[in-house]
Amino acid sequence: MGYIEGQDRNQIILLPECIDDYISEDSAVRVIDEYVEQLDMEALGFDKAVCAPTGRPPYNPKDLLKLYLYGYLNRIRSSRRLEQEAIRNIEAIWLLKKLRPDFKTIADFRKDNKRALKAVFRDFTKLCDEWGLFGKELVAIDGSKFRACNSKRNNYSAKKLERHIKYIDEKIDKYMQELDEGDTAEAHDRRPTADEIKERLKELRERKQKYEGYKKRLEETGENEISTTDPDARLMCNNNNNVDVSYNVQTSVDSKHKLIADFKVTQKPNDQGELDNMALRTKKLFGGCDFEALADKGYYKAEDLKKCVENGITPYVTRQVYSNGTGDRDFYADRFQYEKERNIYICPAGKELHYARDRETKGKGVIGHEYRNYEACKHCEFKDRCTKSKKGRVICRHVDQDFLDTIDLQTELNMDKYKLRQMIAEHPFGTIKRGWGAYYFLTKGRISVTAEISISFLAYNLKRVINIFGAEEVLRMLREKKKPVLA
Ligand code: SF4
Repeated sequence: MGYIEGQDRNQIILLPECIDDYISEDSAVRVIDEYVEQLDMEALGFDKAVCAPTGRPPYNPKDLLKLYLYGYLNRIRSSRRLEQEAIRNIEAIWLLKKLRPDFKTIADFRKDNKRALKAVFRDFTKLCDEWGLFGKELVAIDGSKFRACNSKRNNYSAKKLERHIKYIDEKIDKYMQELDEGDTAEAHDRRPTADEIKERLKELRERKQKYEGYKKRLEETGENEISTTDPDARLMCNNNNNVDVSYNVQTSVDSKHKLIADFKVTQKPNDQGELDNMALRTKKLFGGCDFEALADKGYYKAEDLKKCVENGITPYVTRQVYSNGTGDRDFYADRFQYEKERNIYICPAGKELHYARDRETKGKGVIGHEYRNYEACKHCEFKDRCTKSKKGRVICRHVDQDFLDTIDLQTELNMDKYKLRQMIAEHPFGTIKRGWGAYYFLTKGRISVTAEISISFLAYNLKRVINIFGAEEVLRMLREKKKPVLA
């Protein structure tokens, strides 16, 4: 028996005569086409949404938006690859009706429509809301680091600059010394000549000047670091405990269908201070509905939790447990029991720690109350396991500890909901970063990367909606929406 044979390439009617015949009725590309077609590009703020009366006709922004959405949904993000797809990919050819924009036109579209791209993401979430896809009861808030278009070598902290400048100074001194000795040793062919040394000195001085310029900029701006390729990117620790120049992307994901309700790109290396911000933004989007918010211990901050509660959002956040310095878990702060009536702590050795003084920080005033019993610590057999301090252990009780205790209890009682957090919040990041390989940005600057991630998140939400209803049903709903309302 032979193999399955293809058809003769020279046969006259080999392919379907109509390009539409190539695209199945339930293809995602039809949904992209239908959705983008009904967008009001002018209202969304797209460049060239209205054609100028004169000049060469531009590409319709709808066509370029369709191409981007199609590309992001299919792991293709670069403008050069999208240009290729528009030529060889039958779905892209169908989508663009055989238009062939070049990579520059494609790249410029993303560059020129940064805010409009975010507006399209918002438009689609609004549509999801109209279709009742947001449960508005349980929302998970989480952040993830996306690598920026900036290598670690091109990121400088004050310390790194000092180190580089010191190294250059030492090198210059060495070359100067060699130059002094050079006249006598010039004949030695293994050593650089005086001219070569002068050339190297010139290079080193230029580098030193560059570093000093960065140092001055750091001093003037008060920033901790400077990234030279993408000035908005910052050095951050990622999930694998590696350090990279990245952006921190915050999202709020609704639990009903794991759809992204809102997102924000930040330059902060950690999540502290983002809980209330993200929760309140989401509440506004949900039309003021009260809901429960899930977040990991990175968001555990009394001020943020308080703001959430004051605004009708019930937070379930696991507490931060701080190490005691020795690393012995049996003596972590959470092993010390607080007795409210007597206002004392009982340590793991059974000793009483009494209130000693308030702890204050500059600009914030009193942030906590210190409890200690140095006398007991002096004779304690566990002292080496409990603390590194010579005097003894000090426990600091946060000024809002009573409030934090109620949050801890609330989270503990709702552990079944809290356990859903990872599944809800990390679903979009897993799909986008692992599934689509979009764990790094191609563009530079916070506004540009916000536009870039808008397309990723829009593509993710679109894919979710297609998975929920099926492409044909989504098409029907979109066409239904387009129909004029008859009086
Ligand atoms: S070192 Fe002090 S606080 Fe720690 S277990 Fe001993 S007595 Fe208690």
